[in-house]
Amino acid sequence: MYADGKRMYDLVSRMGFVRVSGSPEEEKAAAILMEEAKKLGFEAEKMPFEVEDGTVLKAQFRITGGKEYTVTGYKCAKSTDGEETAPFFYLEQFDDVCLQKAKGKFVLVNERPNPETYQKLLDAGVKGFMTMGGTVIDEEDKTDLDTRKLRKNMTDLGLLPAFHIRMTDALDLLKQKPETVSFTLETKNHVHISHNVLVTVKGTDFPDEIIDIGAHYDSVEFSYGVWDNAAGCATIMELLHYFKENPPRRTLNFIWFGSEELGLLGSKAYTAKYKDEFDRHVLMINADVGGSILGRNQAVVTADQSLCNYVEYLSKEVGYSTAIRHDVMSSDSTPFADCGVPAISFARGGGQGMGFMHTRYDMISLISEEGLQVVADFAVEFAKRLVNAEVFPVPKKIPDEIVEKVDRYLFKKKEN
Ligand SMILES: [Zn+2]
Repeated sequence: MYADGKRMYDLVSRMGFVRVSGSPEEEKAAAILMEEAKKLGFEAEKMPFEVEDGTVLKAQFRITGGKEYTVTGYKCAKSTDGEETAPFFYLEQFDDVCLQKAKGKFVLVNERPNPETYQKLLDAGVKGFMTMGGTVIDEEDKTDLDTRKLRKNMTDLGLLPAFHIRMTDALDLLKQKPETVSFTLETKNHVHISHNVLVTVKGTDFPDEIIDIGAHYDSVEFSYGVWDNAAGCATIMELLHYFKENPPRRTLNFIWFGSEELGLLGSKAYTAKYKDEFDRHVLMINADVGGSILGRNQAVVTADQSLCNYVEYLSKEVGYSTAIRHDVMSSDSTPFADCGVPAISFARGGGQGMGFMHTRYDMISLISEEGLQVVADFAVEFAKRLVNAEVFPVPKKIPDEIVEKVDRYLFKKKEN
């Protein structure tokens, strides 16, 4: 055993408050992490970065001349010119049939648009769109309706008014068979500051070979972010404990990322800042989601296939049960892979009904010391071998099929 589950649980408990990008609470969480590092004798550094954000001043939606529904507006979406009215259409999927019928209408969509489908909405000439949150069996006082943001990779394509509604209300709305709907949106854009928290541990033998070790510490609105991702923050803090006691042969950059939940903004800011140094970065180890009592362990390898094999052999050798995926993780490991740095993400979570990510039910009662410790122990086992390897064994090459997945995940435009 390397990790201390009790110590991890304590840190996770202290971080278990809502800590949205750019909020005073996000800063408070950064301060807690810096304090933890300081207890270990490390002076953490705060790396500020700008986040384009917005405020929703007004968001209203009703059936024209009829029932009004509670909605939130998307930040950074297009403000309406007072109240606008448009025919209503339920765009079930982004296929040609639905898109053909959507022209000039306000649409309710089943799926949150990504840049590809958002472009389809723009091309179809819709007047605005609305996404749904929650489930059809939600009770209003036990659930929250969050305020979402239209991300830059979409606002760059063009602007639309956008709203978000409870699924229970969307169901009711469709039962009313509205012909036209009326909507008002007032938004204002601004920039706020978020931070990455950095600690460097210089390597004793190969200081110029760098391994990044990261976890995001922000959460989404209404979520205590215990499972996602105070747990990962505690995992890498255990790695820092280990390498404090056992100085690493290679240099370690510990990074607790801010603003992951707004689109991996902390890791994107970090990789943008250090992009000229990445020829010296040999691996990125990420921890996102962990500690759950009900669940299973997982490793996502965004690197050469041989690293999957290595993790599999090692897990069998030490008796660690884990699923291994050769894939892209929706987390801070991805911008590193995009810079050509092989990456791996460790996680522990459950299937449907076992945990409720990004809601008020991401809470401490669903996690345990054991659930936290098991992943951290393996992460140390894995890291200490590679960090101290005589010859670094992970190929610097990321296979083409994984590069393709990364590009698709990041919605990169194909270069001609
Ligand atoms: Zn996360």
